[in-house]
Parts: sequence; C-alpha cells; structure tokens
Amino acid sequence: MANYYNKDLYQILNVNFEASGEEIKSEYRKLVRIYHPDISKNKADISKFKEIQEAYEILINEEKRKKYDILHGFYREKIKKEYNKKLNQFKESNPVKNENTGTKKSDIPFTSSINNTLDNLFYGKKLSGKNTQKKAPINGKDISIDLSVSFLESVNGTNRKVNIIHTKPCPNCEGRKFINGQQCKMCNGQGELSYGKKINVKIPSGVVTGSKVRIRKEGDMGLYGGKDGDLYLVITVDKNPYYSIDKQNILINLPITPYEAVLGCEISLPLPDGNYNVKIPPLTSSGQKLKLTSLGLENKLKNKRGDVIITVMIKTPENITEAEKELYLKLAQMSKSEVRKEFYDAK
Ligand SMILES: [Zn+2]
Repeated sequence: MANYYNKDLYQILNVNFEASGEEIKSEYRKLVRIYHPDISKNKADISKFKEIQEAYEILINEEKRKKYDILHGFYREKIKKEYNKKLNQFKESNPVKNENTGTKKSDIPFTSSINNTLDNLFYGKKLSGKNTQKKAPINGKDISIDLSVSFLESVNGTNRKVNIIHTKPCPNCEGRKFINGQQCKMCNGQGELSYGKKINVKIPSGVVTGSKVRIRKEGDMGLYGGKDGDLYLVITVDKNPYYSIDKQNILINLPITPYEAVLGCEISLPLPDGNYNVKIPPLTSSGQKLKLTSLGLENKLKNKRGDVIITVMIKTPENITEAEKELYLKLAQMSKSEVRKEFYDAK
C-alpha cells in the first residue's frame, strides 16, 4: 500500500481539505518556488519537494483525491459540509413563515436521503429503497499492524498514535462490486469502503519482541449488526547493543573514553525510573562491573526489584585533534605503568 495513506496531504500543501483545484494549484506553485531543487540546495528541502509533488499529483486529480478522501476520513466530512451548505441555502430561499402552516416537505426527503447515505457509507444501519429485508450479520475481521518500540519503552510501556485503515464490505453492493451488471457507484467497484483513522494506543510495560497488544473493536467494521474486529499491535523491540535484561536485572554495556577510565567520571544513565547519575571511579578498566542495587525491574510476586549491572567498555575516540595527539605522545613518553606485566608473567 502506498505510504501516502498515512500522510495529511492537505497539510503538506498548506491548504484546507475543502480547497478548490485552483487554490491547490496556487499553493503548490508557491511551495515550488521555495523547495524546488534548482532553488534550494538543502538536502531536507529535496525530500520535502518530493513530498509536495506527490501530494499535488493526488489532490489535483479528481479521482485520486476522492479515493484519498475516503481513505483518510475527509469524505464523510465533505458530505456533511455540503449537506449543511445546501440546507442553509434552502432555508435562506424558503424562510419559514409559520411553523404550523408551512408543510415544507421538500427538505425532509433531502435530509433523510443524505443521512441514509452517511449511514450506509459508514455504518450500514439502514438500507434505503427496496433493499430492506433483514441481512445476516457479518463480523468484521481482525487486523494487525507492526509497531517497534525502544528498549526503555518496552520496559516502561508507552503511548503511540497509529494510523489504521478501517474497511467494511460496501453496504450497497454487499461486496459484489457490481449491481445488475453496473459498477457499484458507492464503492466505485471496490466492493468495500475504507477510511483512515488516527488512534491513540497504550502499549503496556514489559512487552517483548513478538508481544501482541489487543485493541478491542478497532479492526474491520462489522455489517448488519455484526461485531467489529479487533486490532492487534505486533511489537518489535528495537535491537539495542547496550541494554539487555536478565530476569529482573538490567545489564548495561557502558562506553567510556580512555581518559574517563583513568580519571573517573560521572555519567547520566537512562533507566526505567528516569536518568540516574552513576560515578565511574578513577583507574577503571574495560570489563569492570558496577552494580546499582534495586534499580532494575520489579518482580511483583516477590515484591523485590532486580539490579542494574554495568559493564564498562573503554572506547577509543574515532578522531582526535593534533593537540590531543601531542598530549597522548607526552603521556606515552612519561608513563611508567606496566599494564602487560601479568600478561607476560602468565605465559
Ligand atoms: Zn459497492
């Protein structure tokens, strides 16, 4: 599925979702004058320009725009607005003189026909016209989406906004795409209607790669009183070479510089409870371990917390300046430390 489903193309082009083709064109031209690669050499602007072009190609094409609107939930809004506009126009040109005498039947069928269209489009509550016999309920399918979280998010739990696309069988053709040999007009022969929706989801603490989080009733929609499906978030915890978990203990590989190892230092450590300042003592070697008691994960059964175990890794800088190099040279000349004595003695 193309990724533009997840973007607000109107926002990209700086226009309202009701903007006319002319307005879209004029905003597009303004943006081109700012972001075109011939004008801006900024790398971020080049990808912005691509995005603008993509949005423009969809919104300037009536067919593509309609499909996008249905998927993105703008379509229903548009029908509603159009309906309110027509209703207001009607009221203005037909002012009510007396509530008891004016029958004004003409706006009733109009109102109910629009409401039926809306109901049919999104809820399938009523089927207008001849097609009124009771239908067997069809349950909506479950849908699942992949979601990746960072190490600390997996430990603490987190909230996310996700874009989902709700789909349901078209209530007009009931998924058959054609009616009496004619392409169904409601779904344009797709057999289903869909629209995008943004929802907030809560990811509980303690998820691991492969965990499934169930969000009730956010799957595909049911039809004729059928149940809505559920949404499943399939979790992947981002690979993290520095953090891992062993039972209730959090194991951390902590990179420090050679001079931090010699002089000692204080380092801010992101932990589930927030940042913790850990003191690395002077003359620490690679592989040396430090324990922070009871700052690990909670074991609710035993009412006890694990520890954080830090393994120090001395990491040599990838680049040093000439001045730094001179200092290291001086250090090499004056140093009397015998780090390999035990190595030779053990041979
Ligand atoms: Zn249809």
